[in-house]
This record gives sequence, C-alpha cells and structure tokens, in this order.
Amino acid sequence: MLFGDIKPVLGTVRINKNWCKGCGFCVQFCPTNVLDISHEYNAKGYHPPYVKVPDNCRNCSFCELICPEFAIIVTRLPEK
Ligand code: SF4
Ligand code: SF4
Repeated sequence: MLFGDIKPVLGTVRINKNWCKGCGFCVQFCPTNVLDISHEYNAKGYHPPYVKVPDNCRNCSFCELICPEFAIIVTRLPEK
C-alpha cells in the first residue's frame, strides 16, 4: 500500500461547555485549527470553545488531553 492510499483518521469533538474555564488551550494547540472561542458565556461566565471546522479533526485527542477541566471528549469516526 502506498501512503497516498491511506485514508485520514477522523474524529468528532464534544465539549461540556459548563466545565470550561475559557483558558483557550484547546483552541491554541489543536494542530488542525478545529476549534475557536465562542462569543457565548457559560454558567461560570467564561467563553467556551466551539467546533468551527469539524471536518479537520484527526482524532489526535490532544485537546482532550490538554484541557485542564476535562471538558472535552474526542471520539473516532468510522472510515468513510
Ligand atoms: S482531536 Fe486533535 S485534531 Fe481533533 S479537535 Fe482535538 S486537537 Fe484538534
Ligand atoms: S482547554 Fe478546556 S477549559 Fe480550556 S478553553 Fe478548552 S475546553 Fe475550556
């Protein structure tokens, strides 16, 4: 198999907005710029992130690992 035949791994991101403290780590460190900070306020008065470009997620789970509030869960999507 050549590298060009390998399909990209895709993921989907779920955010528990009310656990977020608005640090922005997940937005800043996502390697494919999936997330952005929203304009809305959560129950604590912070701006949680939202999934801006869902098709860019590669299921690396870095946002999930780096979130200090455990507010993100990433799930691998089935291959297309
Ligand atoms: S799993 Fe990886 S690619 Fe997907 S949003 Fe999180 S950091 Fe970005
Ligand atoms: S890393 Fe967690 S706490 Fe920080 S902005 Fe992202 S979801 Fe919120």
